[in-house]
Amino acid sequence: MIKQILFSLSVIITIAVFIYTMQRVFKYFKFTKKKPLDNIGARIWVTIKVAFFQEKILRKPVIGMMHALVWWGFIVIIFGTIEMIIDGLLGTDRILHVLGPVYDWIMAGGDIFAAIIVVAVTLFLIRRLFMHVKRFYGPEMKPVSKADANLALTIILVLMASLLGMNTDYLLYTQATGEEVLGVYPVSSWLASLFVGTAANTAWLWYQINWWLHILLIFVFANILPYSKHFHVFMSVPSVFVSRLEPLGYVDNMENITKEVKMMMDPDAAFSEPEEEEGDPERFGVMDVQDVNWVNYVNALSCTECGRCTSVCPANITGKLLSPRKIMMDTRARMKEKGPGLLKEGVGFDDGKALLGTYITEEELWACTQCNACAMECPVSINQPSLILDMRRYLVMEESKAPSGLNTVFANIENNGAPWQFSPEDRMLWAEGLEVPTMADALAKGEKPEYLFWVGSAGAFDDRYKKVSREFIKILNHLKLSYAVLGTEETDSGDIARRAGNEMLFQMQAMMNIEIMQGYEVKKIITCDPHDFNTLKNEYPDFGGHYEVLHHSQFLQMMISEGKLSVEGELFKGKKITFHDPCYLGRSNDEYKAPRSVLESIPATKTEMERNKSFALCCGAGGGQMFKEAEAGTKEVFLERTEEALATGCDIIATACPFCMVMMTDGIKYKNKEEEVKNYDIAELLSLSMGLE
Ligand code: SF4
Ligand code: SF4
Repeated sequence: MIKQILFSLSVIITIAVFIYTMQRVFKYFKFTKKKPLDNIGARIWVTIKVAFFQEKILRKPVIGMMHALVWWGFIVIIFGTIEMIIDGLLGTDRILHVLGPVYDWIMAGGDIFAAIIVVAVTLFLIRRLFMHVKRFYGPEMKPVSKADANLALTIILVLMASLLGMNTDYLLYTQATGEEVLGVYPVSSWLASLFVGTAANTAWLWYQINWWLHILLIFVFANILPYSKHFHVFMSVPSVFVSRLEPLGYVDNMENITKEVKMMMDPDAAFSEPEEEEGDPERFGVMDVQDVNWVNYVNALSCTECGRCTSVCPANITGKLLSPRKIMMDTRARMKEKGPGLLKEGVGFDDGKALLGTYITEEELWACTQCNACAMECPVSINQPSLILDMRRYLVMEESKAPSGLNTVFANIENNGAPWQFSPEDRMLWAEGLEVPTMADALAKGEKPEYLFWVGSAGAFDDRYKKVSREFIKILNHLKLSYAVLGTEETDSGDIARRAGNEMLFQMQAMMNIEIMQGYEVKKIITCDPHDFNTLKNEYPDFGGHYEVLHHSQFLQMMISEGKLSVEGELFKGKKITFHDPCYLGRSNDEYKAPRSVLESIPATKTEMERNKSFALCCGAGGGQMFKEAEAGTKEVFLERTEEALATGCDIIATACPFCMVMMTDGIKYKNKEEEVKNYDIAELLSLSMGLE
């Protein structure tokens, strides 16, 4: 009876403290921005895959499996914990044995998993304490973060040891008294065999010690977690559930900007828009925590500080200040700092600090290439690039602050429809001497081409990439494909402007392009530029532009597999080719196979870089980086990637993106390897191999 009273008291205290802590954390949600949550069925499926089957953590099979086993073990062991709570409250012992064989299986599972967790957590502790794993370090990892991790691992270790101890003592007690054993305990049976002959009262005493130690530690742990990075134990499943379902390359639309752009483009629309609600107009982008949306805050609360994101971040790898882990840790810390003031004084509370400025510097934000490597790696599906972009949006649209190179790009896109200072009238100069039909010509002839070939700004104006556009046209003409280009009617897709934070400019570009394409009833698009591919495919639908969009690698793969294209020539035979995955084709749109299939059709030796496919390192050009000075670091990203490519001993670096091509070509030049190593687009390799004129 005393045990029951004591236990009931500890349960009440645990629940009360837990509720108090949780309501403190959760009431800050009311200061965050709304974000709709749709497609619940797909979310459940993603949660099963990522949270329960640990899909993302298993990307690194060895360490991933250890983590997964700990997680699965916890799920099984929860059953035993529930039973202990019922037993403690009712004064029973192993009450759930009424479940029969199911009980035996679950108890056996819990016993085995407890042993596995002991081994895994011991290895984790050894790794943390004695091995210098780079991702556990970094300026944002204060001593308290490390102590926090070590404390949590130690508690888990004691929890599992006490569970095994409890089971072992239970078996020793039943052996001594001849009572029936309820449940099956494979590991503890072996442990008990080491202590045969233990007296019943000794076994009972140790059983009680382990029982109380185990359950009280769970209660303490549950209340420590919300104050530590291990809060992710509670938050990781919700974080995965609310994570984005769209491809990683997709950027959330800013509806308030859409409204403004529509009004600018069609002032009459101003009168048909519903009246603005009273109050301060909404700020563009994120300056402080009350500007983040609730999913960002869930993400910040779920961050385990594991550093997987930072360890793959090209900016961080090359010594820049940016660490995606720090972005999430700062968001959480800032809400913790500002939350109480917001609660007391409302949204107008100002403590003279801000997330952007006090915690996160502009230098960090502008170092991001928006490559999505961090988001791909995060085991709890946090999307760090979207928060970085929201802060860039604030800088650009509220403060007019962007690196000078990007300001020039904005002005050029606005005035010339391209990031460079070329006249829009010159958009077709790349095609001189080639037969390239335009949509306008086709319309005049009463024809409706099946495909629009979207040339893109780089394809039309970049000297090196103009050659790729020409080679690709040779392939299209060889196929006698029904296609046309927009010619001088095409204008920049807006991808660079969007990723550099100028949402207004992006949307104006998108709406102009969509209007033109609507005029020609465009249904299918092919483009060589993965950035434009991503934008046209994933982002234009938000503005009414729905197309079937193919990257040229996908189109070429299709033509090869249909037998419409085949390589007879052996121009590259004996050459070693390595392929650099463009972030906006690979990670952002999950396409790794198509470019490799194209290369497979060309007689040559193929080799992979150390980091390839979804693990590939960015070339350093994305997110507007190509048009601005790189932030201070130990190396430029393009050099790191070029060195990785050269380490394969390749003769050719194959690319499938105009920006990757610029960066790789620069890297080859910088390394003085122009004589030995060449950089070709996959379309060029194919066209040259086929000897097309
Ligand atoms: S998107 Fe790429 S560059 Fe930006 S923080 Fe993530 S990994 Fe780093
Ligand atoms: S954001 Fe994700 S990957 Fe990065 S430290 Fe946090 S949990 Fe780990």
